[in-house]
Parts: sequence; C-alpha cells; structure tokens
Amino acid sequence: MNRHIITAFFLASSTPALSQQSTASLAPPVLVDPRVAALRDNALENDHYAWDVVEGLTTEVGQRLAATDAEARAREWGVAKLKAMGFSNVHIEPFTMPVWTRGAESAEIISPFPQKLALAALGYSGSTGPAGVTGEIVYFDSVDALRAASDSAVKGKIVFIDHHMMPAQDGSGYGQFGAPRRQGPTIASKKGALAIVIRSIGTDHHRNPHTGVQYFTDGATPIPAGALTVPDSEQLIRILKRGKPVTMHLTLVSQRSEGAQSGNVIAEVPGRDPSLPPVLVGGHLDSWDLGTGAIDDAAGLAIATAAAKRIMDAGRPLRTIRIVWFGSEELGLFGGLDYQKRHGAEPHYAAAESDFGAGRIWKVNSKLGKAREAEGRMLQAALAPLGIVPGSLDDADGSDIEPLLNAGVPGVGLSQDGTYYFDVHHTPDDTLDKIDPVQLRQNVAAWTAVLATLSGGIEPEPKRPRRR
Ligand SMILES: [Zn+2]
Repeated sequence: MNRHIITAFFLASSTPALSQQSTASLAPPVLVDPRVAALRDNALENDHYAWDVVEGLTTEVGQRLAATDAEARAREWGVAKLKAMGFSNVHIEPFTMPVWTRGAESAEIISPFPQKLALAALGYSGSTGPAGVTGEIVYFDSVDALRAASDSAVKGKIVFIDHHMMPAQDGSGYGQFGAPRRQGPTIASKKGALAIVIRSIGTDHHRNPHTGVQYFTDGATPIPAGALTVPDSEQLIRILKRGKPVTMHLTLVSQRSEGAQSGNVIAEVPGRDPSLPPVLVGGHLDSWDLGTGAIDDAAGLAIATAAAKRIMDAGRPLRTIRIVWFGSEELGLFGGLDYQKRHGAEPHYAAAESDFGAGRIWKVNSKLGKAREAEGRMLQAALAPLGIVPGSLDDADGSDIEPLLNAGVPGVGLSQDGTYYFDVHHTPDDTLDKIDPVQLRQNVAAWTAVLATLSGGIEPEPKRPRRR
C-alpha cells in the first residue's frame, strides 16, 4: 500500500505537461484533417495488426538476444511477416558485433546465514567459470559511495551496490538510478573487486532479476557482474545489518565472442513521390534472454508496423514510410549505429521510435525545427482526443534513432506511461500477458495519426484495369 501512495505522490508531482498544455491552449485552434481523425479512430476501435505482430513474434520466436541464432530467426520471421503484410522493399541489413551468452548462474550466502539468493548476470559480465567464486560482501549505498571508497576496502571482495529507484510516470528514474549497473562493474573492477552484484534496476517486489547491459571501459578487466532481485537485495541488506561479515558464493558463467552477426530488418510503404525524404518509424527486434521481450520491444515494433500498415490500407502516402526493426538495441545500439552509418547521409523527413512498452501514450513531443512548428501543433491537435497532452516542440528521443536525432534529423516522441514499465523491464516476466490490448490500440491510433500527418496526405490507390 505504502508503495502505491508514494507512486501517487510521484504522479501528482510530475505535472509540467499540464502547464505546457495551458500555454498551448492559448495558440489558435488547429483543425485536424477529418481523414486523419478517421484513421486514428478506426485504429483505436479495430486495430489487430499490432497484436498479430507482438503475439506472433513472442510466440513463434520468443527470446531473441542480439547476435544469437534466436535473433537471426527473428529477422527471418520479420521478413516473412512484413512481406505477408504487403510492405515493399523488405530486406535485412546485416552487421557484426560481439555476442554474449548466459550460462549457469546462482548466488548463495555461505555465512552467517546460509541461503540461496536469486540473480541474473548483466550483459557482457565476466565469467566465474563453473566452480564459481567466494568472497566477502562489501556494501555501498550508491555508485558514488563505491567511487569514493579506497581500493583496499574493495580489493578481493564482492561489491554490492544498492539504490533507491522509485516508479515514475515518465520512467525518468532509470537514467539516474541505472548507474550501479552501467558504471558499477567498471569502477569495482578498477578497484580490484572479485565480482559485483547490484540491486536490480527495477521498481517491483517480485523475485525476478532485471538484467541489462554494462561495458567494462577505461581498460577495466571484465569481472563477474550480476543483478540480485529487489527482495533478495533487501534480504542481503538485512543480513548485512546484523553486523557480521557476510560471505557469498557466486556462480555466473557466460561466454563472449567477437564478430557475430546481427542486422536491421527494413520495409517500406512507398510514397507517391519517391524523390521526397522518407518518414522513419521503428522499434527494436532484439530482446533480453530472460522473458520473451513482449514489452521490450516486440510491442514497440508491432505498434509502429501496425500504424504503417493502416496507412497502406488507406492508400498511398505522399512520402515513403520506412519501418525499421533495429537489431541489437539492448547490447548497445549496434542497429541504430549501423543504420546511421549506411543511411545517415540521406535526408529523412522525420524519425520516431516506439520502445517503452505497451502502456498508453500520454504526451507528444516533437522536434521538427522552427519552420515546421505548425506541423508539431498539428500532431498535438490530432492526438488530443486520445488523452495525449501537448509536450515540447523542441524535444524528441528514442534509443535507436538517437544517432539520427543527434545528427539533426527531425523527430517525434510519444511518451508512454512508465509507472509499471520498470516492474517488468528486462526480467523473465516480460511476456505477452503484460500487454493490455486496449492500451496497445491507443498506441496504434496515436502512431497512425502521426504517420498520416507526417507522410503528407494519403490518396486512394489508383484503380488498376481488371485483367481476365
Ligand atoms: Zn527496449
């Protein structure tokens, strides 16, 4: 109960959107093209394409860790699905990257109170080997506390880092409280730690570990690095508070090899004027290997694809819509970087990505440039009937499209409700049943309106002469 009250407080206090809304309401009213409104409302009522994609991918492929055979199967599945849906120019753009795979993993308190704890290795963790390692736990409240510690306090020990992440509607805790995972292993390694375990970067109290990527930078030697579940972290803290030295036996077996293959899957709705820059929309195809990657990010690519399909069903847009199912987002944006390398020099009319689960959209941001702010207001007006508040006209984000946005490509960002996202994110619990079909359709409706607006007007397919 207490957690819910605190959540409510967070929601109540995160209302900058409301003040922006009242500012926006001073601007002259924007009339929404009735064809855009009709496409939006039809998607809200009737869309089944997104569910078909997310259900199909999570059932027929399941988990699909980047650069593994499973991700390759996902690409093949994607090519077949996108062709069957009628998209054009469906193809894979391959790239190589280091592959990392998980083996046996367990954690056990040896003393003072012998018991098993639940954990999972972090991406690119070092391996303990099958025999595991045994060491004394040294506790840190935060990554900064670890950074401030002397080498001698850490050397030869198993570092444990705690944190205090709380749920937030905009998911902003992840940036701040993700530091133990992102930076902890490198800092611990440089101070001579035997291994590191962190409190999972998550907001639930289920016994599910949250994995996620980390890199050993600055020449740090890879050490075993894992995430304990939140309840197990709290258990460990209670044991530590008894004041006796705590010894853990840790087994985290994993393998890494270079030069494995991943790739982006690309498909298009061809525009009436092929000389115009395309509108890019996407999500990421790879997932972590614990669940089936339903909310992260089968849902996102399903939403983007469904919206593009609905435009295609209605006719031909002026501009080409390019769908990208990015490979290997989780292990380090390899797909986004490869796309940028291949296509970054080509003009793009706009880029947008859905990668924050399947919760309802509550805010629209855009960064289309000063000259196109009216288009940003048009998006705000088109989305308002879905309960989506106007956000910034000078902000857009998305992990795989970040290289494009950084290079100045105009962008649109639809903010989804993240209150519960980090309960499930990167856990074995990221499965299809977490997706609410009604909220999924609200997402498709919003993206359909966005694509209908950005693609510059849809005209019915010219009737072809009937053949005998
Ligand atoms: Zn994701």
